[in-house]
Amino acid sequence: MQLILLGPPGAGKGTQAKKLVDKLRLPQISTGDLLRAAVRDQTELGMKAKAKMDAGQLVPDDIVIAMVRERLQQDDCRPGFILDGFPRAVSQAEALDKMLEDMGRGLDHVLSIEVPEAELVKRLTGRRSCPDCGAMFHVEFNPPRQEGICDKCGGKLIIRDDDKEETIRQRIAVYREQTEPLKGYYESRGLLRRIAGSGTPRQVEALIDEVVGKA
Ligand code: ADP
Ligand code: ADP
Ligand code: ZN
Repeated sequence: MQLILLGPPGAGKGTQAKKLVDKLRLPQISTGDLLRAAVRDQTELGMKAKAKMDAGQLVPDDIVIAMVRERLQQDDCRPGFILDGFPRAVSQAEALDKMLEDMGRGLDHVLSIEVPEAELVKRLTGRRSCPDCGAMFHVEFNPPRQEGICDKCGGKLIIRDDDKEETIRQRIAVYREQTEPLKGYYESRGLLRRIAGSGTPRQVEALIDEVVGKA
């Protein structure tokens, strides 16, 4: 099965992707995570991406498209995959269509997680992430058992550099301008599934299960 998780920053794509990984046993491919790993490793690509990420802008297409192409060729993607945060622009969706065609595959569902802007800002300003295992927490909505420490691996939780209010607003604006048009792109192909994302993580999970099946 090939799935895309689409939605504004803070909609809960990463949170829901992690649940799908466990249920469907498919890899999560998060371009944000791949880019942050490149920044951490101080690769040339990471250096190029960092300024854009800190400014809340999209990283250039050639970088992310090459990254995804390489990732999709790895063995673990053979049974399918969950794309989280890619594509983020129509140009990327077109590139993905080509990649999938070359692989002789198609998309099953594009899950569009919909959450009002005021809620997104609350979610992102309180987000805490584990740099070691990728787990996500929220100071109010999903607090770790011990403040600042990852429940899963004991890592020290961090606030992402781009989770400050000013950058959050910018990222949401970029989403509206460049990413939201993808809804029309996939709707016209019969692939768009709108998911109400304002409920609890469990409620959102149940709505997604209705679409993809429990597996
Ligand atoms: P995205 O990957 O779409 O940016 P995340 O999954 O990282 O979003 O979620 C953003 C923040 O909101 C995290 O701190 C997460 O714990 C929290 N969160 C995720 N889903 C919900 C939800 N349904 N209700 C409240 N908070 C949520
Ligand atoms: P979010 O929580 O905002 O959904 P992500 O972790 O998906 O965050 O992305 C963080 C940043 O990484 C984005 O603001 C952008 O700069 C960059 N990025 C991630 N995915 C893409 C993509 N497909 N195209 C361009 N830039 C991307
Ligand atoms: Zn962890």
